[in-house]
Amino acid sequence: MKPGLNENQQKGIHSAAAGFYSMMGSSAVPEVRLDLRGRAAGQWRVRGGIELLRFNPEAFLLDWEAHFPATIAHEVAHSLVYRRHGPGNVRPHGPEWKAIMSALGFRPEVTHRTPLSGRRSRVYIYKCKCRSHRLGPRRHYLVTRRGYRYNCAECGNRLHFLDHVEWK
Ligand SMILES: [Zn+2]
Ligand SMILES: [Zn+2]
Repeated sequence: MKPGLNENQQKGIHSAAAGFYSMMGSSAVPEVRLDLRGRAAGQWRVRGGIELLRFNPEAFLLDWEAHFPATIAHEVAHSLVYRRHGPGNVRPHGPEWKAIMSALGFRPEVTHRTPLSGRRSRVYIYKCKCRSHRLGPRRHYLVTRRGYRYNCAECGNRLHFLDHVEWK
């Protein structure tokens, strides 16, 4: 079994979320779950008026400093935008979201750099005469199933599949 977040870390995530809400004068803290998988580090969502914050424990384990507490602020900011502007009236990472991130003391960055294992995609290794090339699943499909040909931009020779697959 993979190690999970320890109790202090879990408590820290919950209390950071609560702290951001109270900083912005919004006291009701939604449920916080640490069960997110995949490439996103965090998620805010609302269904039937019930908000939920989810965080990816793998992200926090791999790079605690990058995500604590910036990722929590990121998702709480989505929640606060929703509370102020209602559903669907503003762009997810638009000026309203950015203003709240700044007010919370964070740079309004949308992506993180932690290489998470969820939803990785295959890379197919091809070779021409001069080097190897990495093709994604779509182009590999076109070559093997549809007879497409790709030529190297450098040497002009046709790419051949090396029967070798890596993960992006
Ligand atoms: Zn976002
Ligand atoms: Zn080449």
